[in-house]
Amino acid sequence: MDSQRPLIVAPPADAARPEPADVPAALAPVVELLSGATVAALTGAGLSTDSGVPDYRSPGSPPRRPMTLQEFLATDAHRRHYWARNHLGWRHLRDVSPNAGHAALALMEYEGTVNGIVTQNIDLLHVKAGSRNVVHLHGRYDQVVCRDCGRTFSREAHDQALSALNPGWRERHVDDVEVAPDADAALESTADFRVAPCPRCGGTLMPDVVFFGGTTPKERVERARAIVEEADALLVAGSSLAVMSGLRFVRQAAKSGKPVVILTRGATRGDDLATAKVEVSTTVALPYLARTLRPLPLDS
Ligand SMILES: [Zn+2]
Repeated sequence: MDSQRPLIVAPPADAARPEPADVPAALAPVVELLSGATVAALTGAGLSTDSGVPDYRSPGSPPRRPMTLQEFLATDAHRRHYWARNHLGWRHLRDVSPNAGHAALALMEYEGTVNGIVTQNIDLLHVKAGSRNVVHLHGRYDQVVCRDCGRTFSREAHDQALSALNPGWRERHVDDVEVAPDADAALESTADFRVAPCPRCGGTLMPDVVFFGGTTPKERVERARAIVEEADALLVAGSSLAVMSGLRFVRQAAKSGKPVVILTRGATRGDDLATAKVEVSTTVALPYLARTLRPLPLDS
């Protein structure tokens, strides 16, 4: 493919969840670009919305600003508030299941079309779906890490520590997970929560995830770069590429002259680098691609 002009398939302007009327027709340019290619996948929150994991950047989502690393580190009150909300909400991520989009990427890896997945999601749904070569750019929800000694612990074990320090707290607050619009009021509402220190050194524990304002560990970025390097094309699924941690791989692929295909609803920061862009649900598009791009015919 020598054209650098993006093939944009525009959604109907009035549709809240735009979906092309004719999916095979909308994806025809994508199939042409990816046929016979080894494909690296870059995935974001849009892939997991159909599993019930909210994507706060997708069109129509309520505005919400996550706590930054600087805020988390600034005061005890911020850390109390963060852990209190995390104590209420983290088990939702533990209990969600992968959807057809995750399953399709796992199948494409098994069949040799996809060589690896670079994900911005912390929900581990690619691993649950059976994908093997996954780089979790932004970390994983099921671990906590000590900022002082660097040891990691399971979120499950940390849950026991928090539950022991805050008996009945979750049951009393189960209905008020929502962030209050006023930050001070929100901090006030969790002032009685007790955080658990590192069980080994007494230091500050935080989830093993990259906060806004934090940086992606170099080693992860290198592994992700290698996956893109080894592939013939980059498939972006469900990411608005709003943060540099994802956008840089689009730039890497484009710079090497590799086709970049974006399957994401709404505008992304990589649209001008896309060889093809389709606004389509990944739950619909990825299974279609898995069926259509399969290297060997299944008929027998
Ligand atoms: Zn420690």
